[in-house]
Amino acid sequence: NWKKINVDNRSRDELYEMEKTFNEMIDQLKDNFEKQEIFVSDASHELKTPISIVKSYAQLLERRGTDNPSLVKESIETIDSEADRMSKLVEQMLRLAKNKEASVTETIDMSALAKETVCTFDGAYSREIQFDQRRQQLMVNGSRDQLEQVMYILVDNALKYSNEQVEVSIDQSNDKAVFSVRDYGKGIPEQEQARIFERFYRVDKARSRDTGGTGLGLAIAKAIVKEHQGELTVFSKTDAGSTFTISLPIVDS
Ligand code: ADP
Repeated sequence: NWKKINVDNRSRDELYEMEKTFNEMIDQLKDNFEKQEIFVSDASHELKTPISIVKSYAQLLERRGTDNPSLVKESIETIDSEADRMSKLVEQMLRLAKNKEASVTETIDMSALAKETVCTFDGAYSREIQFDQRRQQLMVNGSRDQLEQVMYILVDNALKYSNEQVEVSIDQSNDKAVFSVRDYGKGIPEQEQARIFERFYRVDKARSRDTGGTGLGLAIAKAIVKEHQGELTVFSKTDAGSTFTISLPIVDS
């Protein structure tokens, strides 16, 4: 029984502090647990859609496929693309889980990595990416694979959600390496701007689905940037386009 213990003021304060810390820890655990539960339920929901599409096409093939070549072709194509979708979802979910693990860190030249990332898009899109490499040799500490992935996600989104030219730049601002991607697409309404970094959140579900989106890209990007002590920000205006920027602390090379 608390009250019967004869404690001086100092111990009382300490006990109070301990209780407070303990309660905060419990709240944090509860919060993490709830987030985890939401993630699992969202993830199963996202996976259920392609599974039910595959299933219904398989049943359709069984019933009416025998003498119907065009139906067979359509079904196979759909099953194939839905399977791709499921595997992308699973791969991205694993990536989100993995980000929490310590990854190999090295000193990386962000400027060179930005150039390489832009080059990977060459040929894949007919539209041009204008690349402005304002500084060479911007050394940061981190995981090469993860940082390349963040840059890839941002450029890929800019291309997916706009039809015009995309501008990518790498620069230095004070002691930060700044990578920026600008598009002139339809932009993101202000009230949605914070939410797009949430797992599975999409402003336009149908559009995202058509372009092979899962709603996980920006959540992955945000987690990686945070892990690297950096910042990921968005500036966007409806119908004028968006600019996504990451800034990471530069280290002495
Ligand atoms: P997705 O796989 O759907 O692209 P993301 O997590 O990468 O998922 O992005 C979440 C949502 O944010 C997208 O579905 C889209 O609605 C919006 N979004 C992301 N980038 C852009 C952009 N450059 N322009 C307009 N909307 C964007």
